[in-house]
Amino acid sequence: MSTLEIDRVRKAYGNLEVLKEVSISIGTGDFLVLLGPSGCGKSTLLNMIAGLETVTGGEIRIAGRTINDLSPKDRDIAMVFQSYALYPTMTVRQNIEFGMKIRKVAQADRDKAVKTASDLLQITHLLDRKPSQLSGGQRQRVAMGRAIVREPKLFLFDEPLSNLDAKLRVDMRTEIKRLHVRLGTTIVYVTHDQIEAMTLATRVAVMKDGVVQQLDEPQAVYDRPANVYVARFVGSPA
Ligand code: ADP
Ligand code: MG
Repeated sequence: MSTLEIDRVRKAYGNLEVLKEVSISIGTGDFLVLLGPSGCGKSTLLNMIAGLETVTGGEIRIAGRTINDLSPKDRDIAMVFQSYALYPTMTVRQNIEFGMKIRKVAQADRDKAVKTASDLLQITHLLDRKPSQLSGGQRQRVAMGRAIVREPKLFLFDEPLSNLDAKLRVDMRTEIKRLHVRLGTTIVYVTHDQIEAMTLATRVAVMKDGVVQQLDEPQAVYDRPANVYVARFVGSPA
């Protein structure tokens, strides 16, 4: 069974149709990248999966169950954004455990979860620092730490690396790939960067103007692009 099914999903803002009957299914452990230029509807789709936007038409299902009407907190999803939105007055440790604290997770379990996540992300030596004392890449790791400790069924990333410089972007790409392999979680990842998409994805959905042009494994999209738009966008040889 598919873990995530996006079934003829539409989104309109008034008369503006930003997503037109998008259908995508992925399995457990898949790394789906939504790839397309700015304005094609990637974030809108991701926000609908997260429950941050309402769905105009169609259905989104997780493990066979419709989530259209579930509030974001009941969706078992964690999201990492481009802007990290860490709490500036809290330490790294406090930032990572904050969600667990709200859910009244016991201190011992919180400590364990923070240790596991920070070891995995190699930020254990930074736990007592404040966000202002961290580099951009370190902050992004903390943001991922916060997401990991929730052990979500589904991880959503919205252009998480676009604020980082080129060298760091490549490092973090490797890091995210490693995380995916280690945790085996299902990921939906939004980017406009073709190389990022091709290196990270197990499945790529190439989008244009609210329509999925092609959904396949990266190699297949590259080797057998569905149309000229896809070929140009992923840089397939002519
Ligand atoms: P992407 O993430 O691919 O850059 P978005 O999903 O952010 O694209 O936006 C898709 C389209 O929807 C754009 O044309 C954008 O202007 C429009 N849009 C996004 N949010 C709103 C909104 N709240 N109201 C009206 N239009 C919106
Ligand atoms: Mg966006």
